[in-house]
Amino acid sequence: MIYLKTREEIELIRESALMVSKTLAIVAKEVKPGVEPIYLDKLAEEFILDNGGIPGFKGYGSKKNPFPATLCISINEAVVHGVPTKKPLREGDIISVDCGVKKNGFYGDHAYTFAVGEISPEIQKLITVTKESLYLGIEQMISGNRIGDISFAIQQHAEKNGFGVVRELVGHGLGKNLHEKPEVPNYGKRGDGQKLKEGMVLAIEPMINLGSKNIKQLNDGWTIITYDGKPSAHFEHNVAIIDGKPEILSSFKFIEEALNNKK
Ligand code: MG
Ligand code: MG
Repeated sequence: MIYLKTREEIELIRESALMVSKTLAIVAKEVKPGVEPIYLDKLAEEFILDNGGIPGFKGYGSKKNPFPATLCISINEAVVHGVPTKKPLREGDIISVDCGVKKNGFYGDHAYTFAVGEISPEIQKLITVTKESLYLGIEQMISGNRIGDISFAIQQHAEKNGFGVVRELVGHGLGKNLHEKPEVPNYGKRGDGQKLKEGMVLAIEPMINLGSKNIKQLNDGWTIITYDGKPSAHFEHNVAIIDGKPEILSSFKFIEEALNNKK
């Protein structure tokens, strides 16, 4: 069942999404060679708790193997769901940081891929195209369109640039639950799938590989890596349909200001 949200509910999701944005901005300032991912995780958790939020990912999943951290930090060949470790970041790495926050009963969930120091032009292009594909997908989030229109736009752009589109992991509805219906694949056909309606809130999140689309899971039960070991990028926004059009509830503005101030 798809839960359509009222304007009031959308504002609560926006509040949580913007707390994620500000959390990612704190991370953005600290991403550099030598930094331990678990330090970034600690900063994120403190910021969320200090601002009345609850880390949305910590404890997620099965009782036997709940996700242990506030951030998913996925480095280089890690696609998503990376568990923060003590292994310091190195010049030339890329890290995809995904964060969830619950506040007032509603979730925000978005992600950004950062360069650590200087990265190769090839990997920079992967990051740029992944972010572009996210915005091309969002443009299709119009009342009367279908999920497949979003999926198609993302896939087209990524594949046109020679990159692999992950199939097994998808975007999703968002609200009182971190993952709601409908699923939002990053591949598909125009005109396929659920019709988009006023009040829908989706987390759109292309996961794009430099090489092939294939992935596997590490035996920590969480981290997803590319099968060929090549890097992967991930960007995620939370988007509502308001007055028939897409409105992005999360924001990269805080993150990109933080990155520009570092230069
Ligand atoms: Mg998500
Ligand atoms: Mg996410």
